[in-house]
Amino acid sequence: MKAFLAAPHVEALPFTTPFVGPEQLMREAGLVSLLRLGANESAFGPSPKAIEAMAAELPHLWCYGDPESYALRAELALRHGRAIGEIGVGAGIDDLMGLAVRAFLAPGESALATRGTYPTFGYHVAGYGGKLATVDYTSDGFVDVDALITAAHRLRPAILYVANPDNPSGSVLPAGEIERLCEALPERTLLFLDEAYAEFAENERAFADIDSPQVLRARTFSKVYGMAGARIGYVITAERNVRTLQKICLQYGVNRNAQVGALAALGDDAFKRRVVAEVAAGRADYYALARSLGRAYLQSHTNFVCIDFESAERATLAVSDLLRRGVFVRKPGAPPLDRFIRVSVGMPDQRRDFARQLAATAEALPS
Ligand SMILES: *Cc1c(COP(=O)(O)O)cnc(C)c1O
Repeated sequence: MKAFLAAPHVEALPFTTPFVGPEQLMREAGLVSLLRLGANESAFGPSPKAIEAMAAELPHLWCYGDPESYALRAELALRHGRAIGEIGVGAGIDDLMGLAVRAFLAPGESALATRGTYPTFGYHVAGYGGKLATVDYTSDGFVDVDALITAAHRLRPAILYVANPDNPSGSVLPAGEIERLCEALPERTLLFLDEAYAEFAENERAFADIDSPQVLRARTFSKVYGMAGARIGYVITAERNVRTLQKICLQYGVNRNAQVGALAALGDDAFKRRVVAEVAAGRADYYALARSLGRAYLQSHTNFVCIDFESAERATLAVSDLLRRGVFVRKPGAPPLDRFIRVSVGMPDQRRDFARQLAATAEALPS
């Protein structure tokens, strides 16, 4: 049968997704259980208050959610010291990123990011007919602000993407570096500042509260709040940008239960502080594990740690050997980080299981 073709920019895309989900990995490997440490989900789960609020809301799922997410935006605005109009809610950062690309980048225009950073940005750029240009990380795995500024002045991209703290490196840029980047932005470039892990960084207060219509900061309930499956996140930006995203967003794209759960999660600061402390302890466990195996690691400001396997080939072998042992981790895709494996902080017993399996994998790899 003759194929029926999509639009040219969609036809040009490969039939692959940026992420192969752990469920698919399990089906393919014939596993019935998996130590799930590959997607930086929070094994500490949602706050009990959020669970209670969502459970109580279930009978009302016959109602659409508030398309304005008004109650949640009001609370977020209060917490960030912004006006409610400067907060936009979406079905996670991935959704908001797609909306931003669709809204601010015309087909054929270019976007700029670090090679090997969080891949969903490039996925949306390709999906909406844009072109992605990249610069490399510095040799020690930091986002290279100078290189981004130079490339931005050469390319004048519609959007510049920076994750801070970054995934997969786990590194963070100090507020001064973000300010320098903002000041150097070409006039028509929007900075999409992905702060999915901001709550884990030691000094969250140091995050520059940038007040520029050219900057869109994105936060999520998927990481520290442990609600990845609920799909909810938000942006902080100029009111006009929020309204622009609202022009094209799916009217009822943010589900009602997620709105209720997110609002309740914000009300449980003690739980969030415990998760942040537990994650710091988990990072320390992974650092100690790496040292005990004679391996280098990257200092992380997130809920994951990168452990060095000397080469991309060996890191790839380690990831598949771990999967055979029922452990799901991922690895960065581009140099200089592709020699590392990336493991999420789990509960203490999961960390112990991981330590055992990683030691076995390190032993099993050809020398
Ligand atoms: C996990 C992650 C996201 C995804 O956030 P959602 O709100 O679940 O869509 C976005 N950006 C980075 C850098 C991440 O690591």
